[in-house]
Amino acid sequence: MSNDVEIEKRRTFGIISHPDAGKTTLTEKLLLFGGAIQSAGAVKNNKIKKTATSDFMEIEKQRGISVATSVMAFQYSGKQINILDTPGHKDFAEDTYRTLTAVDSVILVIDCANGVEEQTKRLMEVCRMRKTPVIIFINKMDREGKDPFELLDELESSLDIKVRPLAWPIGMGDRFKGVYNIYDKNINLFAANKTKIATDIVSLSDINSSELDELVGEKPAAELREELEMIEGVYDAFDRDTYLSGDVAPVFFGSAVNNFGVKELLDTFVRISPSPRGRDTDTKRVEPSDKKFSGFVFKIHANLDPKHRDRIAFLRIVSGKFERNTFYNHVRLDKKFKFPNPTSFMAQDKSVIDEAFPGDVIGLYDTGNFKIGDTLNEGESFMFKGIPSFSPELFQELENLDPMKSKQLEKGVSQLMDEGVAQLFIQQPGNRKIIGTVGQLQFEVIAYRLEHEYGAKCRFVPKNYHKACWITTDNEDQLKDFMRAKSQYLAKDKDDNLVFLAETAFLLQMAEKDYPDLTFHTTSEFK
Ligand code: GDP
Repeated sequence: MSNDVEIEKRRTFGIISHPDAGKTTLTEKLLLFGGAIQSAGAVKNNKIKKTATSDFMEIEKQRGISVATSVMAFQYSGKQINILDTPGHKDFAEDTYRTLTAVDSVILVIDCANGVEEQTKRLMEVCRMRKTPVIIFINKMDREGKDPFELLDELESSLDIKVRPLAWPIGMGDRFKGVYNIYDKNINLFAANKTKIATDIVSLSDINSSELDELVGEKPAAELREELEMIEGVYDAFDRDTYLSGDVAPVFFGSAVNNFGVKELLDTFVRISPSPRGRDTDTKRVEPSDKKFSGFVFKIHANLDPKHRDRIAFLRIVSGKFERNTFYNHVRLDKKFKFPNPTSFMAQDKSVIDEAFPGDVIGLYDTGNFKIGDTLNEGESFMFKGIPSFSPELFQELENLDPMKSKQLEKGVSQLMDEGVAQLFIQQPGNRKIIGTVGQLQFEVIAYRLEHEYGAKCRFVPKNYHKACWITTDNEDQLKDFMRAKSQYLAKDKDDNLVFLAETAFLLQMAEKDYPDLTFHTTSEFK
């Protein structure tokens, strides 16, 4: 098959949600439809459980599960669907943000009772930054939840995106009768545990016909008619281009655990979601149809066995064709590498592949050569842009407890940072190491791994920083003034960029006011 056909077939996306909204359940149902798994329960919830915070091995075991399910590929309706898993646990949010750089679209799961939750907001911010097309699935309609109109308003106001319902629920909780598909003008009557063959879907050429009353009852039918009229009045007609540009999110309703509304979601997804998209590099934009192979590393997973230091680097293919045992340029190191055992991931199976195409994600065994954000390609040299770092929320200074093991500590810290476990900021004088994370768990992970994998002992001293801000300016004099005044709050990140460690939101505001020509960024993606 030609590259173009392979590219057009692929749909690479991520499912995101606040923990417990139903991401794992929905993923599992999608895999069932795709025939990638045979029974429910096959997809392990890779949620890092709360009780696990004090038990590092338990976390590692759970992370092991998350490697196996990092990418789940299946065929559906002539398409190859690649689902990239995103950890729901807040402490692993960085990981999720980076995974979102490797997808072409997203399905966002919302719990109909909880509406927009904390993690939902943050994840959507990342999607908005990248203009990633989003489809919203409002889940758990078999339970009593918020009024659907209220939910839509909440989505628009707190996620700062326009929405467009493509389906509409008839009642909810005990009164849940089913979903009207606005796009296809049919009704899917609710029944628990729906199977693949949707026999309960009834076409309705006219929602004013009495058939609707017979199907769902007079009162619900009247309500549906009224609500549909309101929808058509309030929301613009669905337009695929505004979805693809990330401006409007189509909305579906269903109940993942009952397999209800999932097929409709999937059928619409394969029709409207984008095929693999290009990516920007430091010199040009690379399109999937470009002949030469290119890709970037967005995730690195360390071996769980401390005796083996090898890791798996996850590479998203952007253009051309990747082939096994072929030399490619590792652009940052300016060295050529070939890969005898590149792997693909199919639900819980891993297998060695000979070739892979744009949109695919493959695992490359690595002995420490890759960092997150690295480009692998053939032909001319360029680097993919846009694996952003986000300001951490917790900061602690790392102190070496065993001066005899300084070298091991340096090496360990550097490798853990390459893997993206946390961010390192170096402060002068004294080369002090400030580690920034989004969750407490990472500090435990770092201390444990430094000790068990590198034989180095450390201790963390909490620092009261509010945010790390990257600074840009055209006004060199003002920057110099700022650096003189704030020297004790300055640090350098891994790429030697200047960072302001602001102690409070107020002090950050003051800095913005006092140094108007400096711009303070809470993500590193501003170049
Ligand atoms: P995740 O944390 O987002 O991956 O959420 P899970 O898929 O693990 O689901 C969290 C809980 O919600 C589990 O107990 C599910 O069984 C339940 N759940 C998922 N979908 C539904 C649904 O449609 N209705 C109801 N009532 N419960 C659901």
